[in-house]
Amino acid sequence: MSKVLIIGAGGVGRVVAYKCAQHRDVFGDIMLASRTKKKCDAIADAIYRKYGGRKIKTARLDADYPEQTIALIQKFKPDLVINVALPYQDLPIMDACLETGVHYLDTANYEPKDVAKFEYSWQWAYRERYQQKGIMALLGCGFDPGVTGIFTAYAAKHYFDEIHYLDIVDANAGSHGKAFATNFNPEINIREVTQRGKYWENGQWVETEPHAIWKDINYPEIGPRRSYLIYHEELESLVKNFPTLKRARFWMTFSEQYLTHLRVIQNIGMASIEPIRYKGVDIVPLQFLKAVLPPPESLGENYTGFTSIGCRIRGIKDGRERTYYVWNNCSHQAAYEETGTQAVSYTTGVPAMIGARLMLQGIWSGKGVFNVEEFDPDPFMERLNLDGLPWHEQFDIDLEMD
Ligand code: NDP
Repeated sequence: MSKVLIIGAGGVGRVVAYKCAQHRDVFGDIMLASRTKKKCDAIADAIYRKYGGRKIKTARLDADYPEQTIALIQKFKPDLVINVALPYQDLPIMDACLETGVHYLDTANYEPKDVAKFEYSWQWAYRERYQQKGIMALLGCGFDPGVTGIFTAYAAKHYFDEIHYLDIVDANAGSHGKAFATNFNPEINIREVTQRGKYWENGQWVETEPHAIWKDINYPEIGPRRSYLIYHEELESLVKNFPTLKRARFWMTFSEQYLTHLRVIQNIGMASIEPIRYKGVDIVPLQFLKAVLPPPESLGENYTGFTSIGCRIRGIKDGRERTYYVWNNCSHQAAYEETGTQAVSYTTGVPAMIGARLMLQGIWSGKGVFNVEEFDPDPFMERLNLDGLPWHEQFDIDLEMD
């Protein structure tokens, strides 16, 4: 039995804590630590009411300060730290794991607070130091990034000699009844979706204006939804780990209402990350906006509909072109009934638990810093079906992705 320290008590942290508590055979002792301890306590109480057994431990932690994380690790002595706080905390938490010799896992790559830019270079730079320390960091083990990389690795392993075209298609066809809300941390979400579009083609990155390229894509059990080409972090590692890719793109659905709100937010300066002085205090407009928007974990109760995330792949097998589509649909209501939060948090938290489980069982192991597609996808795919995210596949169909 292993000990795990989960950092971050938002929507995703809640799901990770629930799912780890369901598997006491692997996660023998669980601690949930975050900036606001009462959020950890509320989650611990809810899990205790639902599953009984030993209560999960909680602690207050500001993970911006590695010395605080080091002290907590030294006290609790976890085998693994699951970081589901914000991308800003990735490096300080990786530093703390390096100092104490503890394995690390996260679901989103590092972003500096003052530049809205995400890339793996900062975290890949830890590779040698993690190797020397004999520990493992698993990066981007949510759904996207995460399962999308595992789906790609599974396709490459079983169905193709070479994969040439990859389109990751991500629909949230749910309805939460709010005029405007984001499904995960509003600050991170708005930074992500207002970036310039970017995709990989013929050995180079092609950039576009934000939301300039779109298409109506049919999603299983959902139907057609307008989907916009955006840049997403897993593209960076996937084109590196699958060099046969001629093109790799990421598509996400946004409703007209969401985009209209987003445009207004940008036009009036509320998406800015430049601090302004207000009544003698420096505030960041986007952080202030986050404080007034509904927290993602509050959306669950009235959320209906599904998310649908998958990979549409074209490549060559035995000299013949073939196509493959693998996806998961997740119900917001079912996610809420199980964990008290909606499907976007659920689809992130479940893969984080599965990655942690495979690491703690030594099924996925290594020394250094890794992306998920570098490991054998089969045991992960098996667990997705067992742990609440069943997947489906279709072969030799029209992928609709010219
Ligand atoms: P939330 O904003 O709901 O939760 C973040 C939590 O982290 C909060 O509890 C917050 O504390 C805590 N936190 C923030 N700063 C610190 C700090 N310095 N020290 C300790 N705790 C801190 O976000 P989500 O749960 O929606 O998202 C969590 C992570 O998951 C994000 O990194 C996000 O990018 C990632 N994600 C990944 C996805 C994927 O598929 N790969 C999809 C969706 C999200 P407080 O409550 O005090 O604010």
